[in-house]
Amino acid sequence: MPITRRELITGVAKVGAPAAIVVTLGKDALKTEPIPVPNAAVGLLYDATICIGCKACVAACAEANNTPPDTRGDALHQAPSDLNDVTRNVIKLYKPDDGSAFSFVKRQCMHCLDPACAAGCPFQALHKDPETGVVSWTADKCIGCRYCTITCPFHIPRFQWAGFNPRVTKCEFCSHRLEKGLKPGCTSVCPTGAVIFGPRPVLLLEAKRRIQSSPGRYFQNRVYGELDNGGTQALYLSHVPFEKLGLPELGPESVPARTLRWQRRFYQYFALPALLYAGLVQVIRKSLKGHEQEAHEREKETGLRAQL
Ligand code: SF4
Ligand code: SF4
Ligand code: SF4
Repeated sequence: MPITRRELITGVAKVGAPAAIVVTLGKDALKTEPIPVPNAAVGLLYDATICIGCKACVAACAEANNTPPDTRGDALHQAPSDLNDVTRNVIKLYKPDDGSAFSFVKRQCMHCLDPACAAGCPFQALHKDPETGVVSWTADKCIGCRYCTITCPFHIPRFQWAGFNPRVTKCEFCSHRLEKGLKPGCTSVCPTGAVIFGPRPVLLLEAKRRIQSSPGRYFQNRVYGELDNGGTQALYLSHVPFEKLGLPELGPESVPARTLRWQRRFYQYFALPALLYAGLVQVIRKSLKGHEQEAHEREKETGLRAQL
């Protein structure tokens, strides 16, 4: 018995209706949740408008972390031009050609609330402390895949290419100093208060107080890191656009949340054809059953006729 158009439409609709429900309900799964801030989240606030580029914080970071002198750019002086395998904190200068405002910028790990480096690490060698929110690296879990150097939207982790037992290096908020009740190295030497340390909520209030008390001083009256990339624990104030300082406009959704949303969307749209296919299978199976039954009845009828 051939499948009629009516049967085909009814069968597909039967399965298609629940599919439509699944797809509609699935939209909820695409919503992103706000990322919780750890209870005792620490942070640093860097205010580019009062940084004088003295690099005392760079030297203090090297001393606090016992990193070797970085003299690759200049054999006589320690003058790193960017973060690298021995430099966890760097001061750069943004100086546009058109003579408009210049700015220094301090770069180190942002200690994201939802760190892409940790989300991408297959062995949890990078992990976020649930209390303080500090993102650290554990040597014995790392297999050296360097995936974290690709997934970080701020291009922070660096890999030691030389050496027998290479490490991934990045700022770990001087957690060895925090354990002793000390401040991170970079935040304990700044002569102008351009970089300060404290609980993240307190730093956020301080940043907003500065914006309010100096109208027009800060770019977009905005604290970079309050919401960017789902929020970070290193917060920035600046008088020039953040992008000029190497801080990308990532939006309020974290990179891992965005990736998850696209993954869900992919599976969501994959579900609809799969369910429609299931509908077709059901129609075909029903039709085959009908064929079998018809053949069986025909056989029975032929048998009866033979007996007569
Ligand atoms: S800035 Fe990069 S390395 Fe630092 S926590 Fe965020 S994703 Fe990880
Ligand atoms: S918190 Fe520590 S490791 Fe990070 S930049 Fe400051 S001094 Fe360097
Ligand atoms: S110590 Fe302070 S003023 Fe000096 S470069 Fe670092 S952040 Fe800027």
